[in-house]
Amino acid sequence: MNTTAYDFPFDLPAHTGGADLHLHTLHSDGSSSPTELVDKAKEVGLHTIAITDHDTTAGVAAAVRRGQAVGLEVIPGVEISTRDHAGEIHMVALFIDPTEKALSAKLADIRKHRRERITEMSERLAQMDVNVDPDDVLEIAGIGAPGRPHVARALVEAGYVDNCHDAFRRYLGDNAPAYVPKVCLSPEDAIELTLKAGGVPILAHPVQTARDEIIPRLVEAGLLAIEVFCPMLSQIDFRHYLRLAEKHALAVSGGTDWHGAWKDDSLLGRIRVPLECVERMRELAQGVAL
Ligand code: AMP
Ligand code: FE
Ligand code: FE
Ligand code: ZN
Repeated sequence: MNTTAYDFPFDLPAHTGGADLHLHTLHSDGSSSPTELVDKAKEVGLHTIAITDHDTTAGVAAAVRRGQAVGLEVIPGVEISTRDHAGEIHMVALFIDPTEKALSAKLADIRKHRRERITEMSERLAQMDVNVDPDDVLEIAGIGAPGRPHVARALVEAGYVDNCHDAFRRYLGDNAPAYVPKVCLSPEDAIELTLKAGGVPILAHPVQTARDEIIPRLVEAGLLAIEVFCPMLSQIDFRHYLRLAEKHALAVSGGTDWHGAWKDDSLLGRIRVPLECVERMRELAQGVAL
């Protein structure tokens, strides 16, 4: 397939269908339930979506059920937090079996660390006389994977900052004083777990990760696709990642990385991944499962 032939797929009209393969619900740091998300995706005329919450597949089953009811394809997925010596790398896994044991156990482990990390970040904040009860943060996070966005909301609610952006700038950002790195697996481990769960391992938003030099290493480990349809991507970057995909014989994926009202609510429907990209990954997943 000549992937460099794709057009920049942004702001296409609603009737053009397409797929959004990177979406968050309130099971991680999105604002909508899986059911609400499916209804919204249907409303904006998407044909296919994937649920890719951070480190949890808890939203997948409800979304699949709702999708069947309203006529929208829902692909089971997850966005796995990984890191290497130089920083965090997000890996999206699509077409996984969300009940597969090794992957489920590892994700449960990461979520346990995420809860412990909330307490550690509260302790760091307390050293600066900023008092946020970890239980309040866990309540804001609900059942899902608690993280910095939930601490940020607790800081806003307690009146320490005006908005979440300020919370990241002053306290929680990667170089800010209350930041605690997540305990993550390596990207290679995430690839292996994804393949074992019958899924397609994908490098998420490579322009945000800005670590193109790792791609050959990840391809060696079994990487099958990279996201090229990403929000706020320039035409030049889009072409760059399409060329990289072609060079390494990788499939291409992507989506809006929609978090609902917590970020830019209007993003949903503004990226429409061509359905032939979905089919290519479906075939790859079938190959993985054999
Ligand atoms: P965590 O996984 O707990 O480290 O939190 C990372 C999440 O925080 C990302 O997935 C984003 O959703 C969100 N995030 C990162 N930076 C910012 C920022 N500057 N403002 C708002 N949200 C952010
Ligand atoms: Fe997020
Ligand atoms: Fe991400
Ligand atoms: Zn994401």
